[in-house]
Amino acid sequence: MQISSPSPLDPPADQAHWVERAAALAEVFASRAAELDESAQLPVENLSELHAAGFDLAWLPESYGGQGLSWLTFGKVLTLVAKACPSTATIWLMHLGAAYGLVHMNEPEAARFFAGELAAGKRFANALSEPTGGNLFLMPLQTAEPAEGGFVLDGAKRFVSGCEIADYLLVNALVDGVPAFFGLSPDDTLKLIPIWDSVGLRATRSQLISFTGTLLPADRRCTRQTDEPNPIPVGLPFLSIGVAEAALEALQHHAMSRVIPTTGEPLANMQWVQFGAATEFVKLRAATLLAAQTAWLGDQRSPLVNPTSLEAKLLANEVAKDVAALGVKVGGGSGYLKTSPIQRHFRDAQAGALMAYSAEVCQAEIGKTLLTP
Ligand SMILES: Cc1cc2nc3c(=O)[nH]c(=O)nc-3n(C[C@H](O)[C@H](O)[C@H](O)COP(=O)(O)OP(=O)(O)OC[C@H]3O[C@@H](n4cnc5c(N)ncnc54)[C@H](O)[C@@H]3O)c2cc1C
Repeated sequence: MQISSPSPLDPPADQAHWVERAAALAEVFASRAAELDESAQLPVENLSELHAAGFDLAWLPESYGGQGLSWLTFGKVLTLVAKACPSTATIWLMHLGAAYGLVHMNEPEAARFFAGELAAGKRFANALSEPTGGNLFLMPLQTAEPAEGGFVLDGAKRFVSGCEIADYLLVNALVDGVPAFFGLSPDDTLKLIPIWDSVGLRATRSQLISFTGTLLPADRRCTRQTDEPNPIPVGLPFLSIGVAEAALEALQHHAMSRVIPTTGEPLANMQWVQFGAATEFVKLRAATLLAAQTAWLGDQRSPLVNPTSLEAKLLANEVAKDVAALGVKVGGGSGYLKTSPIQRHFRDAQAGALMAYSAEVCQAEIGKTLLTP
């Protein structure tokens, strides 16, 4: 059964070939996902294939070598990748978020430099979250002190997805009491601390990085505000939607193929399975439409994109966890085995709600808006 039916929030028809190209890659990524989860190795091959197929530049404006594609197309592409291999989708989203951020938050010369590096296949990662800062990753607590040529940072950033292959890190720190962003080339003042032996999204290898006397060069400081949407707030809901779609598909497959000996009928014929699947299916459709609305607001360059993304992320995160939990129930003992995709989807589904802004932070923000006069 198709998860989605036609809607005015579908990707533009003239960009359908991008979606088809992503679907073809996703088939290959899906065949590698279980092994990457088991070995917790970076999906380097998948990331190179996304780059080679033109997906790294596709949402940059043409003036920076991109295609200026719709964010609706981005949502669809990211869903396909996340459904196949959510670790690949997470690293790719972080890579685009950092790279596009460095293009859009800089003056044209520096912006062209970062766009050129992206086009050349260089890799980007976000080193924003701090051990003490938790979820509020855009409000750093660590201060970079003025020094010759820039500012010096002593501190740490953690859960930096894909950092081991990053050529550039988007780093933030307080400078003169305000958050400042830098496009940093890692040097030997940075140390990777391998903390990432996680339950889900194992192949993201989101490690801890310590900074000891690291120079954040003044000429790599971002200087512009931008109203261009960033891929991360637009994309985070779609990461969870991809995982939810994969979990629902695994549930359907198991329910239809498992015959219960006492009834002689497939599990799918039981009413509680049908009711549960229907509820999760409809929630997933609603989450997909809300995420698509966020992407559409991105296409309009609307200031509502970030607040709407909190709503879309909250719903998508919760749906992914709910569908995956129902999958574990339906899967029974067979779904609990490592050989079943059901347990992997359950583990992966937890991550979306933990990633900033967490489901609780989203609730806090939405609730505050609703209940403040
Ligand atoms: C798979 C994965 C990949 C990630 N990738 C990156 C990356 O590439 N780059 C990067 O910079 N970071 C990354 N992160 C970090 C992430 O985005 C969060 O910033 C980080 O996980 C938050 O810190 P914490 O987990 O210690 O949670 P905490 O913030 O300590 O949260 C603990 C609990 O408190 C709740 N909580 C915290 N603050 C509030 C609040 N204000 N109101 C209500 N409840 C609150 C949370 O919801 C949670 O339930 C990643 C995290 C994960 C799990």
